[in-house]
Amino acid sequence: MQRTPEAGKYEKEMKVLQQLYGDVMKEEELRKYLEGSNGNVQMMIEQINTTLSNQKTAIQGSMEENKIEQINDNTLKKEDEKVKIGETKPGINLQGYCINMDCLAAKAKLPVWVNIGFGDISFESNKTSFRCPDCGQSTVTSIVKAMIFNSEHSISSSENLTPVKGNHYQCFYPIKAGLSYELKSKKIRQHATSLEDLITRSENAMMSNEIINLVAELQKYLITVVKPPKVKDSARLLEKIKCDYSGDYNQ
Ligand SMILES: [Zn+2]
Repeated sequence: MQRTPEAGKYEKEMKVLQQLYGDVMKEEELRKYLEGSNGNVQMMIEQINTTLSNQKTAIQGSMEENKIEQINDNTLKKEDEKVKIGETKPGINLQGYCINMDCLAAKAKLPVWVNIGFGDISFESNKTSFRCPDCGQSTVTSIVKAMIFNSEHSISSSENLTPVKGNHYQCFYPIKAGLSYELKSKKIRQHATSLEDLITRSENAMMSNEIINLVAELQKYLITVVKPPKVKDSARLLEKIKCDYSGDYNQ
């Protein structure tokens, strides 16, 4: 079948352009550009790029507007958080709802914070009976959020048995209705267990390839590098012996 010259024209160019811009521009659009530039692909690519970057600026503009909206949203959320009932303390804190008819927090439908502290706890998210910080009754029957504060911890649910671990200053976890959860929390301990451990760690660091290479590099420029403590100490010891005992080590 014989193609009309118009349709076959720029066929190769169209293929290239479709590969380049197929996901952002329609075929007719591309053809229009191509015909407008008399098949000069380079000129066309420049034109398209200009158009696209203008569009991108416009998109970025609207994204920034969205961001501002989000920020406003967050400010609102923070305002909400200000109406906080119950204290949060280091360890596990659970946010939930009280159902005591006489409780002000329950009447206002405000969530309350229950502080659990350090330790292990497991619960079913909508079958709890935690003590309400507002009315003092064990009527916090559902939990919606967990906040773990200044603690090494892990959290797992019946939906996700692999525990999520963390030791950040403050971690929030949404609690889903109808699932059971297991939370473990302990005080953050220092990771260097003893002074010796710390010394070993520093010595290991001094032996690392990075340090050795760095020292070699510095020495190239005639910069004196203080030798690791052990070597230095034995040299100093020798000097001291020489001075105190006139070089006689057997006194
Ligand atoms: Zn209450």
